[in-house]
Amino acid sequence: MYTGSLDKMNSILENPVKYSFVVGDKCIDLNDFIGLKISIDWLGNVSCVCGKSLNKFYRQNFCYQCFWNSPLASQSIFKPELCTADLGIEERDLDWEKKFQIAPHYVYLANSSGLKVGITRKTQKITRWIDQGASQAILFAEVPNRRLSGIIEVELKKHLADKTNWRRMLSGEPEKIDLLEKKNEYSEKIPSELRRFVHSDDEVTNINYPVKVFPVKVKSLSLSKVKKIEGKLTGIKGQYLLFENDRVFNVRSHKGYNVKISL
Ligand SMILES: [Zn+2]
Repeated sequence: MYTGSLDKMNSILENPVKYSFVVGDKCIDLNDFIGLKISIDWLGNVSCVCGKSLNKFYRQNFCYQCFWNSPLASQSIFKPELCTADLGIEERDLDWEKKFQIAPHYVYLANSSGLKVGITRKTQKITRWIDQGASQAILFAEVPNRRLSGIIEVELKKHLADKTNWRRMLSGEPEKIDLLEKKNEYSEKIPSELRRFVHSDDEVTNINYPVKVFPVKVKSLSLSKVKKIEGKLTGIKGQYLLFENDRVFNVRSHKGYNVKISL
């Protein structure tokens, strides 16, 4: 039994992906529990990134103060093209923003529930792909800061989705896509001044997830509604735990929930 604040799952790219649950300061290998019964009890409170304990979050996984003041919840987190740290302009906390934004970023193409575009910090590449439940991914471009990755993404969004259809992603493996062909096709569609950032690495990464049974009609579970989730784990994909009877649990969206896990 483990008690503590839930964090998003850790993952390692193996075949299949190896997952671990992060609860408080404990890390629990999860793959071994597929096919077995597990339970997650919500203890009734949540912890914000600032350390404050609350009955519920204000918005997303933040308290009121953090949602309106923390650089972790600023506009450019959701719209990277609005980043300004590389221009020396503060949004909420310039020191933090410089560290976060002025670092190499990738723009990538992935196949999670179909073709999509996304961005990630260079160091988070594989983690990001796994978190989104991508089955295939390829680097599209590498840029020196987050703002530029957002600008390229905006260009590609004119032609491509940037969101994963999570219900479809959880319903099975998507049809294979020739990502290199798509990369070549979309490289032609971005403005010529951005083409110099297109990455020369054309390797396609294939990702397999530890799933025994995919849900048929996906039913999403929320701890704020049901308080306790119990049942046989049938697989893990993206940041979702798949349970018997078509139920799915998004671990990441429950970041900060104080829980008791029984395995
Ligand atoms: Zn807070």
